[in-house]
Amino acid sequence: MATSDSPEPGAIQQAARDVEKAATAAGTATGSPVLGRVAGVLASGTARSLTGRRISKVAAAVLVSALVAAIAVPVLTVMLAVHGATVLFDADGDDGGYVAAQACFAGSGVEAGLSDEQAQVAEAVLAEIAERDLPAQDAVIAIMTGLTESGLRSLEHGDEAGPDSRGVFQQRAPWGSLEERLDPRAATGLFLDALTNKNLRLYGTSELLNSRDGSRYDVRPWLVAQSVQRSAFDDGRNYRANYEEAVGVVAAMLGPDAVAEAEPERWGVALPQGDSTATGTSCSEDSSVGAATGGWGGFENGRIPIDQLCELSFAVGHYARCDAASAVEELSTAFREEFGTDLEVTDSYRSYEQQVVTKRAKGHLAAVPGTSNHGWGTALDLGGGINRFGTTQHRWMQENAGRFGWVHPEWAQADGAKPEPWHWEFKGCPTRRACN
Ligand SMILES: [Zn+2]
Repeated sequence: MATSDSPEPGAIQQAARDVEKAATAAGTATGSPVLGRVAGVLASGTARSLTGRRISKVAAAVLVSALVAAIAVPVLTVMLAVHGATVLFDADGDDGGYVAAQACFAGSGVEAGLSDEQAQVAEAVLAEIAERDLPAQDAVIAIMTGLTESGLRSLEHGDEAGPDSRGVFQQRAPWGSLEERLDPRAATGLFLDALTNKNLRLYGTSELLNSRDGSRYDVRPWLVAQSVQRSAFDDGRNYRANYEEAVGVVAAMLGPDAVAEAEPERWGVALPQGDSTATGTSCSEDSSVGAATGGWGGFENGRIPIDQLCELSFAVGHYARCDAASAVEELSTAFREEFGTDLEVTDSYRSYEQQVVTKRAKGHLAAVPGTSNHGWGTALDLGGGINRFGTTQHRWMQENAGRFGWVHPEWAQADGAKPEPWHWEFKGCPTRRACN
């Protein structure tokens, strides 16, 4: 079954270029950001580490901005009410950041008959779908494809038709690095790059599958899968054979309301009955993912009077909470002694209004207003080399910033849920002396 062909030359590159736009457009155009929102909340924070362990869960306050509410609150409300999903949006969300997050799936894939291994893969797949705010149909298609290609397992081997095929989607070498293809989350990303590429054509034809606004033309889901995968089955019946199970998995994990958006009944599959009493898996705190938990002074996130903040002397126009500012002044001095230049600050305190604007401009790539540590004045985005993993500057920060109470959150690290080398947070001075 592992017959995924390689994409056309340039397709991957094209997809890579288009993915951000496509994902944004899709999230907007499908009218179902709910899936992404809820599942993103569910999953993205844990996604990259899902391969090694079961999803961790977080219970936290539901933070929904007016902006998101305007788009998604009706269904979100229903889903929260029905499934008891608790959500926690990630702290960051700018220049490449995202609405990270995690919370609880409505249920486990195990409830839909998956093994633990398959359930973990499913979580990774849905996490990536969620992060991109893609619609439920894409979730079903991705799960269906994974079931077909690998039994929803990250296979470390290919088959006769594709000896170099690897991973959940049995992607061949041109799709990506071995590491990516064997990482369920990254492999899903490669799959979705192709799935949402606006140049994707219906298998065997020149018809485009995705409209310019990111929505998909009306095509049977298994033919969509076939168009991406180019298996040996022209009509996609291999995928079709797993459509119903995929619907069941998505329904179990995201809730029947979410999967209803994929319109399974149109394709002859009954909508799974909802369990309105489901409260989801138990959730616990997980400090590995950033959260805007730094409230102080009785202010609301992003609504701190500017005179309560301190401007950075080395980065005029940038503000932070005064203890954080004082600490980063020292950090910058140490940095300058090493590199001859102060820290380059690209973003600092961000007001609620600014975050609304950012959110409006960047869609799912930005944190929900009111949920960023930038709104508490305790996060900075840094440039000057720190904004890339592996640079001397970034390594120096990893080794030294902690002395000044500044840390690179686990979720933002290279192997974290959402790598953001530029994003640093103030966690307080380890010792009085260190920050004075
Ligand atoms: Zn940031």
